[in-house]
Amino acid sequence: MKEYRIAAIPGDGIGAEVIEAGLRVLDALQEREEGFRLAVDSFPWGSDHYLEHGCMMPEGGLQALEKFDAIYFGSAGDPRVPDHITLWQLRLAICQGFDQYANVRPSRLLDGISSPLRGVGPERLNWIIVRENSEGEYSGIGGRSHRGTPLEVGTDVSVFTRKGVERIMRFAFDLARSRPRKMLTVVTKSNAQRHGMVMWDEIFEIVKADYGDVKTDKMLVDAMTTRMVLKPESIDVVVATNLHADILSDLAAALSGSMGIAPTANLNPEGDYPSMFEPIHGSAFDITGQGIANPIGALWTASMMLEHLGEAAAAGRLMTAIERVTNAGKALPRDLGGTATTLEVADAVIAAIHGAND
Ligand code: ATP
Repeated sequence: MKEYRIAAIPGDGIGAEVIEAGLRVLDALQEREEGFRLAVDSFPWGSDHYLEHGCMMPEGGLQALEKFDAIYFGSAGDPRVPDHITLWQLRLAICQGFDQYANVRPSRLLDGISSPLRGVGPERLNWIIVRENSEGEYSGIGGRSHRGTPLEVGTDVSVFTRKGVERIMRFAFDLARSRPRKMLTVVTKSNAQRHGMVMWDEIFEIVKADYGDVKTDKMLVDAMTTRMVLKPESIDVVVATNLHADILSDLAAALSGSMGIAPTANLNPEGDYPSMFEPIHGSAFDITGQGIANPIGALWTASMMLEHLGEAAAAGRLMTAIERVTNAGKALPRDLGGTATTLEVADAVIAAIHGAND
């Protein structure tokens, strides 16, 4: 029997609640599948750890994670700790430390879920946004001087490297090529940002020459938001910078039903390091502790993790079970118009897993 080592980092806010639900469902799934086992170790890292020890994860944290096959992450963010600390000391430390340069964010309408876009059904909204996840606007380069004086300066430098841009373009083209419609839209802002973004566009054109079978087009990021709303069927795979894709994928999540549904994978495609899987939503302090968070984003994320581990049958069974629940409409969480708690949704998915092939 194959065994995969999973590092679970539930983190802060509703992250901890949805990962608990996700682990419960994964447990049920491995009972049903029988072909593999998941050995899960949980790491209590996040804002409580910071408040107690002064760091989001202990020294040596990355080395501890390195021996795992995948990381299952909840969220980092807490009103008591500045956002740049929670983000940089945990999630970004892992993404950058493990060179998880491809962030993959699928959006589609699950069975039974309707879009806030009038008249848009599942056949018109089925996208994958590929986010450059290692540099760009989130490179961490910049600084502040003359703090607290009228001369104070703050800078954040967007960094684009030929290597970084080329590898994310190739990843996106390969992904587009693997999908039936074989379409790729590159998002840019090269009209206003005339150095890094112009290089981004040029490298896209160079890589494109190797993918004659993929249809391509180019959009300014501002125009892309309106296209997502007005012509969702014209989009297949999208590649965008770290910041642009961060924003576009929140919009994509809302258009496909709720922030609570959407999954994401932070991939190190070469497999030199573990990849990390997380729902796209954050800690959602407004609903933390109430047990009402939608766990579907964390469950879809778990399905992406299984797919990545090579367990496509289990990944498919989990998605089928999730969609049985969304389609039946009886155990929906509040953000989808129901009254089910986080664990009630998870239990409904578990029941569907046990019945999925009956
Ligand atoms: P962070 O700063 O960590 O990104 P946030 O609270 O600013 O967190 P999100 O957590 O992404 O942002 O969520 C924005 C809003 O969407 C939340 O306030 C919440 O109302 C809703 N939301 C997000 N995720 C879920 C979920 N899983 N279930 C229900 N509602 C959710």
